[in-house]
Amino acid sequence: MIGAGGIGSAVIPALAGAGVGKLTIIDSDVVELANLHRQPLFTESDIGEPKAQLAAEFIARLNRFVEIAPKQERIGADNARDLLVGHDLVIDGSDNFATRLAVSDACVRTRIPLLSAAAVQFQGQVGLFRGRPCYRCFVGDAFDSDDCDTCAELGVLGALTATIGSFAAMLAINTITGIGEDQVSMLHLFDGEELKWCAIRIPADPGCRACGSA
Ligand SMILES: [Zn+2]
Repeated sequence: MIGAGGIGSAVIPALAGAGVGKLTIIDSDVVELANLHRQPLFTESDIGEPKAQLAAEFIARLNRFVEIAPKQERIGADNARDLLVGHDLVIDGSDNFATRLAVSDACVRTRIPLLSAAAVQFQGQVGLFRGRPCYRCFVGDAFDSDDCDTCAELGVLGALTATIGSFAAMLAINTITGIGEDQVSMLHLFDGEELKWCAIRIPADPGCRACGSA
């Protein structure tokens, strides 16, 4: 799980409670007051403490049979491969495009399925990628160095991150266990104003520099 923020606060308890036996939690941040409305893993007394470690302690209290590896590191292009290799599924709940693209590129190279979940303002999306097409096919190359439209700047309701995170957890469990139709290459979009879901299929980008030759 990349990010123990709003998305992670829904995903982590759901997976640990469902009996996912090994969880790695990667997050370099500490808890801030402005996180609390959307990150119910944490409380006011946690402010200033590292999220990865706190999330690990939460899981340990919830289900002592889960093997937890908290990593207080910022994942990026330089370390993504080393941090992700060996995992069965990567769930990205980070809050910026540069991180998401670095994670996606590493997942393509290591052939690990990627479940990407994001929410901002009243919109949320959850997509599953395995090889080609990849997340970079979907968003392109424009955002690699640009931390644009983060939750911190644009705002997001806790109810929305909980909705998107819970959907992501459901998709993760179905993917791990093989329940239901394979959702690879499908992007599920949620409109928090209309309260509607829709799904689209992501096409491969013929010029994608991550998966183009995969
Ligand atoms: Zn691609």
